Amino acid sequence: MPDPSVLAALAAAIDANWDREVAWLQSVVRFPSLRGQEAPCQDWIAREFVERGWAVDRYTLSDVAMSHLPGFAPVMDTDYADAVQVVATLRTPQPEGRSLVLQGHVDVVPEGPHDMWTYPPFGAEIRDGFIYGRGASDMKLGVAAMVFALDALKTAGYAPAADVYVQTVTEEECTGNGALSTLARGYRADACLIPEPTGNALTRAHVGVMWFRLRVRGVPVHVAQAQSGSNAILSAFALVQALQALTARINERAKSHPLFSVVPDPIKFNPGVIRGGDWASSTPSWCEVDCRIGVLPGTDLADARQEVLDTVVAAAKGDGFLANNPPEVVWNGFQADAYHLEPGSDAEAVLATAHEAVFGTSLGERRSTAVNDTRFYGVYYGMPALCYGPVGSGGHGFDECGDLANLKRTTLTIATFIADWCGLRVV
Ligand SMILES: [Zn+2]
Repeated sequence: MPDPSVLAALAAAIDANWDREVAWLQSVVRFPSLRGQEAPCQDWIAREFVERGWAVDRYTLSDVAMSHLPGFAPVMDTDYADAVQVVATLRTPQPEGRSLVLQGHVDVVPEGPHDMWTYPPFGAEIRDGFIYGRGASDMKLGVAAMVFALDALKTAGYAPAADVYVQTVTEEECTGNGALSTLARGYRADACLIPEPTGNALTRAHVGVMWFRLRVRGVPVHVAQAQSGSNAILSAFALVQALQALTARINERAKSHPLFSVVPDPIKFNPGVIRGGDWASSTPSWCEVDCRIGVLPGTDLADARQEVLDTVVAAAKGDGFLANNPPEVVWNGFQADAYHLEPGSDAEAVLATAHEAVFGTSLGERRSTAVNDTRFYGVYYGMPALCYGPVGSGGHGFDECGDLANLKRTTLTIATFIADWCGLRVV
């Protein structure tokens, strides 16, 4: 159990730092850190870490060789020379406790039409105890929690008795290559905590995810003779329907899955971006659809890819033009394995105790139909990787927001977890 006097001291420290924590979170949310535009946000965070006296390793993904590593996801259309990653190290002179990675992603997904937001998506406005903005929940909220958990230790007169690595990464929303780069660079610890907005539940398992681009061709003719052409947009639509049918079949299988039978339709397929055609009165000669599909734990990604290919090939055979001009499937983005946090780790037990001390309830668990970065630490590097964090809502949607009262308690939970996991030394 956490020492009650330490818990009280950490709570008082979080109170004392609270205005700074909220202002810090607002500053981070105000950066429109969309893919390819994360550098100013990361540079600002790196300076913040330097000011705390932490040793900062700031690099870009083009600095790191990792395409040979398990979990790497291929990318197109993105310049990794701009993909800034930040790892801050709090070294302890004589490590006694267990080391820890605290990791959060600062990349955010596109905010969509601004007129659909009640508050500006990068305004970080606060209303009735909630902070609004893209990333306010997923997951700049958690990033503030982990940074101010460490600040609370310092304010209370302590430092972790083992090394702590604070990582702010990018690419979580599309590849996971940011997380992988920290491991490729050699950072390791006895456990990892990623404070995604889980509503203070522990993520027991998540599905796998794959991204791919469908490339479909057509035959352009004047629409007056449409019957003699081939419409790439309509052909792509037929392929999307075939993939929806595949998804329904996989969800049938999921009903007897050991981890996901309790989740209705855990496999989600999404055609998320479409472009094609050049003229309203010409049958389109091309169409591209960027897709995302989930993968059940236990399914090899190579097998899952084959199933997608087989589905596309079978659907194309029913189309006179596509049968002879098969569509292409380009694997571009996530090739993400599922992750299952084995019950019984010390890290989980320490987190459960910290959660209970702060919230007065036992730690609940969730199964996620989306991926998070824990898989890299857990699946490929054998570190117990905990995905647990604050209460937020609206991730990837309009009016995304984070609950500030909950942020305060989550900050205390993480501070307590660090104190118990790493141990404390008085400074
Ligand atoms: Zn996230």
